Amino acid sequence: MVKVSSDFDGGAISFINADKADNIQLEINKDNQSCTRQWFYFAVESISGTLQRIRLVNADKVSFSGAWDGYQAFASYDNQSWFRIDTQYQDGELVLTLEAKASKVYYAYFVPYPLTRQTALLQHVASMPAAQLEVLGQTAQGRDISLLRIGSASAEAKKIWLIARQHPGETMAQWIAEGVIWQLAEHFAAQHFSTAAVSFYIVANMNPDGAALGNHRTNANGINLNRHWATPDPLLCPEVYLVKQAMLKYGVDAFIDIHGDETLPYNFMMAEAEHPLASQLKQALAELDSNFQTEYDYSNVAVGCGAGSCGSSCGQQKATSFVDLQFGVPSLLLEASFKPLRQKAQAIPWDHRAAKQLGENLADTLLKIYAEIN
Ligand SMILES: [Zn+2]
Repeated sequence: MVKVSSDFDGGAISFINADKADNIQLEINKDNQSCTRQWFYFAVESISGTLQRIRLVNADKVSFSGAWDGYQAFASYDNQSWFRIDTQYQDGELVLTLEAKASKVYYAYFVPYPLTRQTALLQHVASMPAAQLEVLGQTAQGRDISLLRIGSASAEAKKIWLIARQHPGETMAQWIAEGVIWQLAEHFAAQHFSTAAVSFYIVANMNPDGAALGNHRTNANGINLNRHWATPDPLLCPEVYLVKQAMLKYGVDAFIDIHGDETLPYNFMMAEAEHPLASQLKQALAELDSNFQTEYDYSNVAVGCGAGSCGSSCGQQKATSFVDLQFGVPSLLLEASFKPLRQKAQAIPWDHRAAKQLGENLADTLLKIYAEIN
């Protein structure tokens, strides 16, 4: 008896056949209101000790066709500790194989980031004197868009903005954001915060509806948030509308938009426009973190504007373009891989723990650079 389920936060899969544990056939879903197809997250129950062989039979129909080359999926027995598993792309199918050591196994495209974890983290950090949590408003499905401010309350403080997970399936973005938040919490707890010259404005999850629905690229209304920063419709994409209003209200001195990349086996940053601080940041982060590098990015590896995203999404305004045009400050895209990295000599292999560590190192790098400026 084999049972497949995805009826939980972020779960997404379609059932085809599961007569035998070693021949489970499933389909990767589309986003609820869009043609994007990429994210999967589900659980399989069978007898402990059996070989589970799962065929994602429509893997050749996903939005990012280069996603499976060198890719390894994640599994977990408790939905908390995750590890990479044997993954093969053959005859248009993605085949996940695991000798199951428990009766229930969770599988996911990348390690999920649950909404409960987000709530607990933000509430914990918001109780610090140097932090403040502001609910900017609600999504179409009534979830909060939360802005965490941490650092100086002074009007002269440099305002560094970080946003993550405009694309909800890019869960590593929120693991990175978590690392940033913890590191800043530690830094500002140890200091008298009012003397600090910087303040961080963080939206750790731009798209909580899409995350809950198990979407990969879009919100509940089928909107790709990172194409609507010019004139965001408050009803169709309240997420962008609210965060943009907050940026205009508080001001922006630097901006990082954190994403995941389906195709490239590298983590990298790209600045919207040349800026000495952006180059300095990239270089310093690469020296500090063995999972980050500056050699490969979209400028020298052929992956176009949302290569696999469907619809005419190119040419409409992205967050980094908006910030560059509006404020003329360093505006960077941070892309992190879904795949094991091709980079040599990593201290730890690329997963959610490494993503969190990258966030911690990013926070340290930003603090150091701004301490030198002041
Ligand atoms: Zn993205």
